[in-house]
Amino acid sequence: MSAPKSAGAVGADVLGDLAAASRILAAQGVVDGFGHVSMRHPSAPDRYLMARSIAPALVTPGEIIEYDLDSNPCNANGRGSFLERFIHGEIYKARRDVMSVVHSHSPSVVPFGLVGVPMRAMFHNAAFIAAGVPVFDIRDRFGATDMLVSDGAKGVALAESMGSRDIVLMRAHGSVACGPTLQTAVFRAVYTEVNARIQHWTMALGGGAPMAALDEKEGRLADAVNQGAGRRAWDLWRAQVRNQVNW
Ligand SMILES: [Zn+2]
Repeated sequence: MSAPKSAGAVGADVLGDLAAASRILAAQGVVDGFGHVSMRHPSAPDRYLMARSIAPALVTPGEIIEYDLDSNPCNANGRGSFLERFIHGEIYKARRDVMSVVHSHSPSVVPFGLVGVPMRAMFHNAAFIAAGVPVFDIRDRFGATDMLVSDGAKGVALAESMGSRDIVLMRAHGSVACGPTLQTAVFRAVYTEVNARIQHWTMALGGGAPMAALDEKEGRLADAVNQGAGRRAWDLWRAQVRNQVNW
């Protein structure tokens, strides 16, 4: 099969921010040797951008590949692709409002996909969680698998499970966080992991007592503030990457 046509070159600043996002997620303990972040192509809604198959802390702007929404690479030039890129392509297809997707296996989040305890928004930085956190169980539709979202059909099922939310947990695997910008998706992925830790502490401290988590309305109000104020966190994290590289 021939590669789909590229939608055109992307600015160095965009590629730099996307590569930096990978390194930020690694530095914040959201991804390790695995996990990935993508963004929709800034001028072509039917294309997205993501690094080649590489550990997130090692990504450079030159490693970014363009994909169509079926997750076929446009310009791989022999470079390998992530097995689970279909998570990204199928969410972009299903959700025109999503501009960036983070997939991770961050450890504090995984337990919430294993037991019937819903994740709730413990503090304002994780406000978007107050809208609800669905859990995708791959075995419901696909039986026993290797747990990976490694083709379009599994990506479609995951996107359906996420629905209109910006987060979905994956049973015995990890989670996905999305946003209307790269910066917001990164912010949400970082604070999803922090929120999970806080919920573990809160439940241990409370010993089964009710938790005064953000309700849905508080979540909407605080999430709106995070779209602007969250930029401060991005600016810090981006500067920390810039201290290590020349892009
Ligand atoms: Zn995964």
